[in-house]
Amino acid sequence: TSTHEGILRRQSLRESAARTYARSLPIVPVRARGLTIEGADGRRYLDCLSGAGTLALGHNHPVVLEAIKKVIDSGAPLHVLDLATPVKDAFTTELFATLPRALAEDARIQFCGPAGTDAVEAALKLVRTATGRSGLLAFTGAYHGMTAGALEASGGATDVRVTRLPFPHDYRCPFGIGGERGAELAARWTESLLDDPKSGVPEPAGMILEPVQGEGGVIPAPDEWLRRMRAITADRSIPLIADEVQTGVGRTGTFWGVEHSGIVPDVMVLSKAIGGSLPLAVVVYRSGLDVWRPGAHAGTFRGNQLAMAAGAATLAHVRENRLAERAATLGARMLASLQGLAAAHPCIGDVRGRGLMIGVELVDAGSAAPDALVPPPSPRLAAAVQQECLHRGLIVELGGRHAGVVRLLPPLTLTDEQAVAVLDRFADALAAAER
Ligand code: PMP
Repeated sequence: TSTHEGILRRQSLRESAARTYARSLPIVPVRARGLTIEGADGRRYLDCLSGAGTLALGHNHPVVLEAIKKVIDSGAPLHVLDLATPVKDAFTTELFATLPRALAEDARIQFCGPAGTDAVEAALKLVRTATGRSGLLAFTGAYHGMTAGALEASGGATDVRVTRLPFPHDYRCPFGIGGERGAELAARWTESLLDDPKSGVPEPAGMILEPVQGEGGVIPAPDEWLRRMRAITADRSIPLIADEVQTGVGRTGTFWGVEHSGIVPDVMVLSKAIGGSLPLAVVVYRSGLDVWRPGAHAGTFRGNQLAMAAGAATLAHVRENRLAERAATLGARMLASLQGLAAAHPCIGDVRGRGLMIGVELVDAGSAAPDALVPPPSPRLAAAVQQECLHRGLIVELGGRHAGVVRLLPPLTLTDEQAVAVLDRFADALAAAER
């Protein structure tokens, strides 16, 4: 415990004021396996944060550890810039085998700097170079990262080149109707903006969207709306970028989030789980967009061999064990159970998600304005639920535009028993937070 306290104290003195998780989750992980993290104080936690959705196979999965050890034992170089290696070849082959067929048949891959935001930057630069245009179509509530371009593509940004379009939301519908009609209106809004010469929308180089908004509060894009976005962009020769950083590798119940709607984007931005818990980010795109000259996009850390090996092992394991389907079945069951909980707790405004990407929106049920369709979000209650979960050995993430959404991102290897344990602890925590 003294180690635990000491580490926490020194970290709080030395680290930047921007520290996030460490503030709300004062734990000092020293060991982890699967769903479980053990702290320096000996406490054990069920980890439904999963490195913000990175750990498709949970912590330290044997196939991931084996893959890493194999590279180390082989004497292969760990750092090689973007040189060709057997490890990279195996990763690329495995990745291409999972991609939507129409894209995989004609795809190029750009290895990027290590984080999701680096791949977003690369994608934005790629479509701007390929189209010679600079405008960007992006969505309310979006999250694409923390570097300049990715930040501007995220919700609430102010770059004049970015046109902010409404992302459909059943619960907090921008048009106050929700459902199919809300999504239909969102699509028509987009069409009319693009087709109105007086709208002032800068010539778009691309459209970027998440198949399920994650940080924005777990908001699944309706399939039909996604197909409309695909048609609208295809008709106007606007490259469509799917940011699958969080939705990829089985998380939403299909291998890639776009598969629910069947759309094939022109560009896919991939990170998090593709590195099997090590940093790795790539952009995959139609070969027709490959207009870059040699060196047009570089970066020292584009060749992390351990991440590629861990990633290839993860992709193969998810594919061979049909873990996406497992995520779909188990996720649906967890959603149903949480909806049951919502029926008994008015402070749960909404339960939503896809696969094992689940969000529970906490609301201030008592303080809804008489004419409001839904009560205001309750970041206070969400934070209290997160703390109560922590006391019960359950780690959950917060999200949403007002941080009113508790998010569950368990590994795809979650067992039925573990799912029950997670839900039991969550229900207890909710009851405690309400008191
Ligand atoms: N895009 C999406 C959809 C994300 O969820 C995230 C991270 N939460 C990013 C991009 C940025 O990734 P990174 O934090 O690795 O830069």
